[in-house]
Amino acid sequence: MQVIQVAISVPMPQLFDYKIDMLDVSNAAVADSGDDALIGCRVLVPFGPRKCVGIVLRVGVESEYEITKIKSVLEVLDSSPVCSEQMLQLGKWMSEYYHYPIGEVLHTLLPAALRKQQSGKTKPSVATESYLQLTPASSAHEEVDELLARSAKQFDLYRMLEKGPLRVSIIKQQFTPAIIKALTEKNLIEKIELVEKVNDWKAELSIAEKPVPNVEQAMAISTINLANSFDTMLIEGVTGSGKTEVYLQIIEPLLAAGKQVLILVPEIGLTPQTVGRFEKRFGIRVGTLHSNLNDTERLQVWQQAKEGRLGIIIGTRSSIFTEMKNPGMIIVDEEHDESFKQQDNLKYHARDIAVYRARQLNIPLVLGSATPSLESLHNALEKKYRHILLPNRAGSAAMPAQRLMNIKGQPMQYGIAQGMIDKMQVQLNAGNQVMVFVNRRGYAPALLCHQCGHVENCERCDNPMTVHKSANNLQCHRCADIRHLPKNCPACGHDELDTFGIGTEQLQQGLESLFPDFSTVRVDSDTVRGKGKLSKLLKDINQKKYQILVGTQILSKGHHFPDVTLVLILNVDSALFSADFRAPEKLAQLITQLSGRAGRSDKVGEMWLQTHCPEHPLLQDLINNGFSDFARYALLERKHACLPPHEHQICIRSESHHKHLSVHFLQLCAQLFTQFKYIKVLGPFPAFIEKRQGRYRNLLIIQSASRKYLQQATEQANKALSEMPVSKQVRWSIDVSPIDFS
Ligand code: ADP
Ligand code: ZN
Repeated sequence: MQVIQVAISVPMPQLFDYKIDMLDVSNAAVADSGDDALIGCRVLVPFGPRKCVGIVLRVGVESEYEITKIKSVLEVLDSSPVCSEQMLQLGKWMSEYYHYPIGEVLHTLLPAALRKQQSGKTKPSVATESYLQLTPASSAHEEVDELLARSAKQFDLYRMLEKGPLRVSIIKQQFTPAIIKALTEKNLIEKIELVEKVNDWKAELSIAEKPVPNVEQAMAISTINLANSFDTMLIEGVTGSGKTEVYLQIIEPLLAAGKQVLILVPEIGLTPQTVGRFEKRFGIRVGTLHSNLNDTERLQVWQQAKEGRLGIIIGTRSSIFTEMKNPGMIIVDEEHDESFKQQDNLKYHARDIAVYRARQLNIPLVLGSATPSLESLHNALEKKYRHILLPNRAGSAAMPAQRLMNIKGQPMQYGIAQGMIDKMQVQLNAGNQVMVFVNRRGYAPALLCHQCGHVENCERCDNPMTVHKSANNLQCHRCADIRHLPKNCPACGHDELDTFGIGTEQLQQGLESLFPDFSTVRVDSDTVRGKGKLSKLLKDINQKKYQILVGTQILSKGHHFPDVTLVLILNVDSALFSADFRAPEKLAQLITQLSGRAGRSDKVGEMWLQTHCPEHPLLQDLINNGFSDFARYALLERKHACLPPHEHQICIRSESHHKHLSVHFLQLCAQLFTQFKYIKVLGPFPAFIEKRQGRYRNLLIIQSASRKYLQQATEQANKALSEMPVSKQVRWSIDVSPIDFS
């Protein structure tokens, strides 16, 4: 009995057999070209009591099962494969490399709209696109200004559209549907569908004026342009060295030859400004893939890329799975960014996938960063990657000076040393902007009773709750649990509640009282939540509505703040003593990226790091010799300690409401792994976040100098583990090349 084998998104590694009668296949295209044409198509199949969408991987297979037990396919959903042969190949590789069920992997590769349990054919790609434009009636409204006076957002959108119609997908990055609806109801704007000509980006391509590259950029550009087959290149260029300008110039000849380019950026880096820079240079529209798109919009970009109707696609992590009809290059900007690694479910790293795909497509891959990951730097120094250096800032801007401020015994206000307050005053008086970084959002990391010493904890996570004054509550930053902010101590009833430590809210308040003549803005995940909030804040900052910027990591991510001349970093000493071997690397990246926000124009910038440990060798090395020196030294240290990237790791995590179960499972894992050659087993030990939502979390690190041996051992252990009863009693996962041990 011949059957087809289907990959279904369930946590089981095998394929599933189904009967199919080709005469029943209503899709003429598939039926005509025979069984093989089914490979990569989606089918709707019965699975237990459910109907599931599956992907056909094999046809004409002899089934090992009894024919009466095999069910029939309900419907073939596609007339041509949604998964090309290359994507199927990628899926199989990922399934082996990440030890993850093939069905779940393949479903991760597809846009959500195609994963859904819906029948219906894949829509032929949409040939029109929605735009918004001003209505003819709008010009008759002389009092538009007045009409919109009370809604700044509506007014902003109206103004934007005065210049001409704009694509809805672009507008949505910055404006909510409510704003669009409000203006539509006032009869000021309307939606129109504009027909998009196939491949017309090639005709539209026109190169705007561009700067003459400096010597280093010119060398980078010519080196990269010489590569016309698979080759990985790492651009290590200091902040503001003109990496983006290099990207713009290297893709120019590719676009001119009709080739497509995929550019990956960190989650927080996909702003209208970034997209605008590419659209302006080439006069074509750029396809964007980001988390604010709905399933249909995402599918549309995916299809347009696949059909070759987009020249440039810019997207976040999962856009690495975009197919291109005529691929020319993949670029991963800020390649060190942790958002490229998916931390749950399928724990893939988009940079690793990028290497696989570029090899598969035989096209160049460009990785760029001011603070490259030690993994990529190692590959570059080992000559596996081509190494391109941009050691100076482009144009006339100078690198900011970096300095340490010894705060031992210093008088402090709101966590800021008096000396720094004076420096801030000088810059503010001179009309410049100042940026203050603290790694905690909220008002304070703990609520403490002055009378009895009680600290309010989240019991499910055994962790102090963070005080949020603006939301007037307590929040657990591990499980997101929210509790009312008590007036009296829950333990002794006294009303002398105090807070401990400093977060962004308190810092903002403090700065407002220290500098009442200047306005302060807070940029953290609380204030940028919501569509277009971040880009609005960035715009307001660049228009100098605010002089003092307070924020968390978000501030470090690639934005340009030309008027910031002073960057102040508070409270990062704890990273110097972390048990995480990556903590120094992460700290150095953070400090370098933050300091890179300063002095971007002709103004000279300064970065000050407050510390209790000014003599610490890591800080000394970083401040005096810069990131590139620090990173090379850190690599050497990793080598002596036999740590990644010199050796390879996988991490097995287990979680359970019962501590002993979580540990017991990992002890069994450890026993399994110790049987293998060339394998080191470390642990089990508690995760950095030991308890979350009532679950105890532990991990086991398996390490080897040989990736091959590690891979084989993990594969065998994974099989054995899945068959052990205890594996059903804990939540467990395998993380290949882990970067986070929380
Ligand atoms: P990065 O991506 O490394 O942060 P950018 O490409 O954004 O750097 O460049 C930083 C700034 O320098 C930008 O304002 C850019 O327009 C400018 N710039 C880049 N290259 C040149 C050049 N060759 N001549 C003049 N200005 C340049
Ligand atoms: Zn909690």
